[in-house]
Amino acid sequence: MAELCDLTAADLASKLRAGETSSTEVTESCLARVEAVDERVRAFLARTTELARERAAAADARIAAGDAPSTAGIPIALKDVLSTKDITTTCGSKILESYVPPFDCTPWARLAAAGSVLLGKTNCDEFAMGSSNENSAFGPVHNPWGLDTVPGGSSGGSAAAVAAGEAVWALGTDTGGSVRQPASLCGVVGLKPTYGLISRYGLIAFASSLDTVGTFTRSVRDAAILLSAIAGSDPMDATSLDRTVDDYAEGLDEGVSGLRVGVVKEAFGEGVQPGVRSSIQSALNRLSDMGASIEEASLPHADYALSAYYLIAPSEASSNLARYDGVRYGLRVPGRDSIEMMARTRGAGFGPEVKRRIMLGTYALSAGYYEAYYGQAQKVRTLIIRDYEKAFESFDVLVSPTSPTTAFRIGERADDPLAMYLSDVFTIPANLAGVPAVSIPSGLDEAGLPVGLQVTAPVLGEALVLRVAHALERELAFDAVPPLVAGLAA
Ligand code: GLN
Repeated sequence: MAELCDLTAADLASKLRAGETSSTEVTESCLARVEAVDERVRAFLARTTELARERAAAADARIAAGDAPSTAGIPIALKDVLSTKDITTTCGSKILESYVPPFDCTPWARLAAAGSVLLGKTNCDEFAMGSSNENSAFGPVHNPWGLDTVPGGSSGGSAAAVAAGEAVWALGTDTGGSVRQPASLCGVVGLKPTYGLISRYGLIAFASSLDTVGTFTRSVRDAAILLSAIAGSDPMDATSLDRTVDDYAEGLDEGVSGLRVGVVKEAFGEGVQPGVRSSIQSALNRLSDMGASIEEASLPHADYALSAYYLIAPSEASSNLARYDGVRYGLRVPGRDSIEMMARTRGAGFGPEVKRRIMLGTYALSAGYYEAYYGQAQKVRTLIIRDYEKAFESFDVLVSPTSPTTAFRIGERADDPLAMYLSDVFTIPANLAGVPAVSIPSGLDEAGLPVGLQVTAPVLGEALVLRVAHALERELAFDAVPPLVAGLAA
């Protein structure tokens, strides 16, 4: 029988309201699961166990008083790039190993005000740069579906925690796929909303024009609930959209009959694992059975998205990461003068991938090369935005695999940055265009590892991606459990 920590937030919220369980019980269930598996999974960098117990007790009081929003009392984990007041926030980097933010990021501030229970901060690739979690300065995360495989990245800890029942849901960030790709590799639901829908205040910046906060959940309904709780305009983030928030759970059951679904043909070429291809194909057949029309769609410039991203994101990173100079934040390695101090601090504090990105970005922005690299990449970005606009004239949503492969072995791509970068080839275009996309599990491959299916909609089409994902989720009835979790019951 499933434990409390394995239930969805929606189910837990109704049990809490009916008095069938308490936030304290749910929280203890998660904490026990963390105890049981996290030595093997390594999803958490910091656990806030005592705080979680206090917050759970407070939530129980609120629920008893009848004053509880739907997220109250539900335990959550936060990726360690999201600032939490008085709780160490490392970005998976030595340079911030002892950094304690003086304020909360907006998404957590909103959840905290609504009575959420924080379990801890999750492991991630250093400054969210990576697709396997192997770039964390604090060691890799292990995928609950196969402990010798990666959970994906960069939000690998959040994805693995939700997959393993260590948290009911979690937040991550998605700059080029870091919510959707790990969700896909860990068999959970990952939502990247429209750029600007969730405030970036307190999200430690990687590439500001691409960064978004996203959700990891075990159901599409939970994604809708969590999104509704954290989205909406924020005066602390100049790029946050000025918009009141919908209740994203409302239209979930409207079905897909009559919807025009475009299948992105560029996402079925070389390099897509056969098990991924067949899983997506059978999901598409189900969509068609449910009354959606399925036709081939094209994003003709998608082939250039990866190259454009690996100029734009590193360029923004080289600028954003200039602030870690040993003066104001985190690590300081002394030197004879300030220049030497900065060089030593950055030399010792940043890992190899972060250094690679800073060098790429600094080069792309340098005088003489700016137009050829950064300027050109921005033009490609515009072409990709137009590709989506054109595709959405004929289609309501687009479908593709989330990632070309299922989880790969730890170490397999570690020495090959290009192979690693290719993990995000289908997720990056949505970041460049700012459009919403969700990944849901569509089945298992021949090795028993989860496959993810991505649904993309036009800007602010969250309700639509969630509605399609919800319909498919019901139809596919994916209920496989990671071997690690199944083994606990035995
Ligand atoms: N894997 C991509 C990268 O390394 C995307 C990362 C992200 O979305 N944060 O940049």
